[in-house]
Amino acid sequence: DTSVSLSTPTIRVRPLTCTETRRGDQQVVHSLGDGAVHVSAARHDVTFGFSAVFDAGASQEAVFEGSGMRQLVELAIDGFSCTVFAFGQTGSGKTYTLMGPLAQSDTQPASPALLGLMQRSFTCLLEQSRSRGSDLALSASYLEIYNEQVRDLLSPGPPCALPLRWSKTRGFYVENQLSVEFESLETIVSLLLQGSQRRRTSAHALNRHSSRSHALLTIHVRSRAHQPPPTWVLQASACPSRQGTLCFVDLAGSERVKETGSSGELSVEANSINRSLLALGKSWAPAVGALLAPPEPCHILSGSPFAGHCISLLAKPRGKRTHIPYRDSKLTRLLARSLGGSGVTLMVACISPSSRCLSETLSTLHYASRARRVTTRP
Ligand code: ADP
Ligand code: MG
Repeated sequence: DTSVSLSTPTIRVRPLTCTETRRGDQQVVHSLGDGAVHVSAARHDVTFGFSAVFDAGASQEAVFEGSGMRQLVELAIDGFSCTVFAFGQTGSGKTYTLMGPLAQSDTQPASPALLGLMQRSFTCLLEQSRSRGSDLALSASYLEIYNEQVRDLLSPGPPCALPLRWSKTRGFYVENQLSVEFESLETIVSLLLQGSQRRRTSAHALNRHSSRSHALLTIHVRSRAHQPPPTWVLQASACPSRQGTLCFVDLAGSERVKETGSSGELSVEANSINRSLLALGKSWAPAVGALLAPPEPCHILSGSPFAGHCISLLAKPRGKRTHIPYRDSKLTRLLARSLGGSGVTLMVACISPSSRCLSETLSTLHYASRARRVTTRP
C-alpha cells in the first residue's frame, strides 16, 4: 500500500565528503538493509528502523523512485495538498536531495543523473500534463521564511517581508505573493534557479542566512477540464478539489546554534528555527492522520484523534483558538492545509555519516522515528 510507505520518513545518508575523508572522520552511520540504520561510535550503539533508507551509494533516481515521490506527484495532480520536507543539520544533504548539486555551481549545469527530487517531479508533472492533453494549468511560487519573516523569492527587487493572512475561503496565505505559470521544464527550472540565487545572495549579506531559513517551493496544479463541482464541494469549500499542490520544503538546519552571548541575532534565529521545527514536530500527527484516513470529501479525519483535535480547533471562533499547533510558527501556518485536511506528506531525513556529526545525527534520527511512531497508530 503506497499510502503507508509515504507516511513514514525516508532516511538518506550521504557519503563522506572529501574534506571529511581527508581529515580522517570515521563513518559512524551504516545502513543494514531492510530499513535498519545503525549508528555506532565510542559510547553509542543504536539501531533505528524506517521504511526506506538510502545510503551513500544510492542514486538520485533511486531516491525519487524509492521514496514515493512519484506517487506524491500523482496525488497532487488528483487534487491533494502534497508536501515533501527535507530536514537534517546543515551540510547533511537536504538541498542536494531536493535540487542536486546545481545549487552549488551555476557555471556548469548539473548532469541529468544528479538532478534532485524537484526537477524529477517537474518532469513527471509535465509528462502527465502532456499525456492528459495539457489540461493541467501549472504555476509556481517560491518563498523563504527567515526569522519568522516570509519573503518572496520570485518577485524582483530586494527581498521584503510579506504579511501572512488568513481567510475563511483560502485559509492561511501570503499577501502579494507572486505565482508564475509555466508550461516547460526550462521555465520552472529557471524559476527555481532564480529563487535559489536570491536566497543565496542574501545569504552572503547575512551570515549563514540560507542554512537558517526555510525555503518553500509550491507548485499549484489546476485541472482545466471543466466539471461542475460535486455538491459536497459546495458544502465543504476546503476539500480535495481540482486544485492540488506540491510543496518542496528545504528546512533550516536542525543543528543547535552555539550561544555566543554577544550576538542577539543568532539566538533570535535559533529561537525561530526551534519554534518552527517544534511546531512541525507537533504537526506530524495530523499530517499522518490525513494520510491514513481515506480520501473523504471533507476535513474530518478519522486517522488520528490528534488530527481531529486540530481541525475542530480551527473551526472554532477566533477568540477561542488557543492551542492550535499550526499557530506556533509561520511555517506550520503556511503548511496548515498540507499538514491537516487533505494533505499528504513525505519526509526525508538527511544524515551525515561522519563521526563529527554524531550528536546531530542521533537527534535527527530520534526526530524522524517520532514521526514514524505516530504513523503506526491504527
Ligand atoms: P544541506 O542543504 O543539508 O546544508 P547540501 O545539500 O548543501 O546540505 O550538502 C552538503 C554537501 O554534501 C554538498 O557539497 C553536497 O554536494 C554534498 N552531498 C550531499 N548529499 C550528497 C550525496 N547524496 N552524494 C554526494 N554528495 C552529496
Ligand atoms: Mg541547503
